[in-house]
Amino acid sequence: MPKLLQLIPEYRDYVWGGQRLRPGTLTAEAWIVYEGDRIATGAWQGKTLAEAAQEWGAALLGQTAWRRTGERFPLLIKILDCQQWLSVQVHPNDEQARQLAGPDQFGKTEAWHILDAAADAQLIAGVQAGTSPAALAQAIRNGTILDLVQYHRAQTGDTLFMPAGTLHALGPGFLVYEVQQTSNLTYRIFDWNRPASAGRTLHIEQSVAVTNAQGAGQIQPAGELPADAQRQLVQCPYFTLNLLAAQSQPLTLETHGQSFHAITVIEGQGTIVCGDERVTLNQFETVLVAAQSGGYQLHPIGSVRALRASVE
Ligand SMILES: [Zn+2]
Repeated sequence: MPKLLQLIPEYRDYVWGGQRLRPGTLTAEAWIVYEGDRIATGAWQGKTLAEAAQEWGAALLGQTAWRRTGERFPLLIKILDCQQWLSVQVHPNDEQARQLAGPDQFGKTEAWHILDAAADAQLIAGVQAGTSPAALAQAIRNGTILDLVQYHRAQTGDTLFMPAGTLHALGPGFLVYEVQQTSNLTYRIFDWNRPASAGRTLHIEQSVAVTNAQGAGQIQPAGELPADAQRQLVQCPYFTLNLLAAQSQPLTLETHGQSFHAITVIEGQGTIVCGDERVTLNQFETVLVAAQSGGYQLHPIGSVRALRASVE
């Protein structure tokens, strides 16, 4: 099997998207790691990530992911260009997903790494301290949830962790890397009074059932990163997210046979080298390093920053 799989993103447009992902075309989301993404090069060119996961199973995904989600690719990773408020929403956990939507469903815990933030950009993460479950349910049903939400300013380089059950919304002025469990379950609480046409309906009772009144996003401010290093941004049972930087020398990395690594360049340009395979990545391009690949390197071209997502 190949050691490296470069993925071709799929794009989605929604009412809140901008023009930064594909200049000249309104685009809200680039789905950079997704089961439907096609492989860019090599013997498996044109096949989907889902087909690759079926073919190679744990050798591609790693044991932890294999045990948890089987042949399903466990993560969905997107880049979001937010020009207007996204809906105020919430996701169920695994148990709630099975109860509300069926036995083969997964919940959705997610994390955001802010790639770029306008000076006054704000987001919503959680509800105000002291909110009672009854007050929360009433506000969800009455359409007055904005009175109870917790606004935050966030800056370039900040990382936010959103456990399932945490109410959240991204605001205008953010470019965001989002990693989440593979799941279709989004419950929309409030959509800024935009028309409910185009399928943007609200899911009031599901939202009441899963929103955590004590839920608060965890915010990790941007920290300094030495020129050639990696730093862990998030570790949770569903995914691990690391920030990588290389400038003066290659950065050596290792899958330990445990998990795939999804490497996305967020700044500059770099080449991933694993054995006799190599893939050069420009900004927002992604390569999947198979779990069984072992050691590999990120070679900077000038300098490079990248994010590494895995399931450990
Ligand atoms: Zn969400």
